[in-house]
Amino acid sequence: MFKPSTSSVSGVTYSFRFMAKDWRYYKFINTERWRRLRAVQLAKQPLCEECMKVGRYRLAELVHHREPIETGVTLAEMEYLAFNADNLESICKKCHTAVHNALGSHNSQRNKEITARRNEQRAAAILALFED
Ligand SMILES: [Zn+2]
Ligand SMILES: [Zn+2]
Repeated sequence: MFKPSTSSVSGVTYSFRFMAKDWRYYKFINTERWRRLRAVQLAKQPLCEECMKVGRYRLAELVHHREPIETGVTLAEMEYLAFNADNLESICKKCHTAVHNALGSHNSQRNKEITARRNEQRAAAILALFED
């Protein structure tokens, strides 16, 4: 039977600390809906999917979002990324850190683009307030 371990809980805390998510991330992750989805994912795929790619069998400790939640510009996009089962991957802590380190190196350009898109949207929303 699947039982979430305390190490996977601290694993999530660990990723929070190191990846400096913004508040929108917590809005989705600090929910019963996420905890349930996460448990379902780990029950469905209890092994680390990254380890399996290289023929290793190790228990997954957390659930990773393939497309990071914070790449969504609108809350609806972020919600979709957070809760879409196809965007989830069972992963061990070691692989999770590796995946995020790899993402981080090519993400700074991407983050700039996302910030620019967000700012554009905000500017458009503000401008809309002044229209008749
Ligand atoms: Zn792994
Ligand atoms: Zn992750």
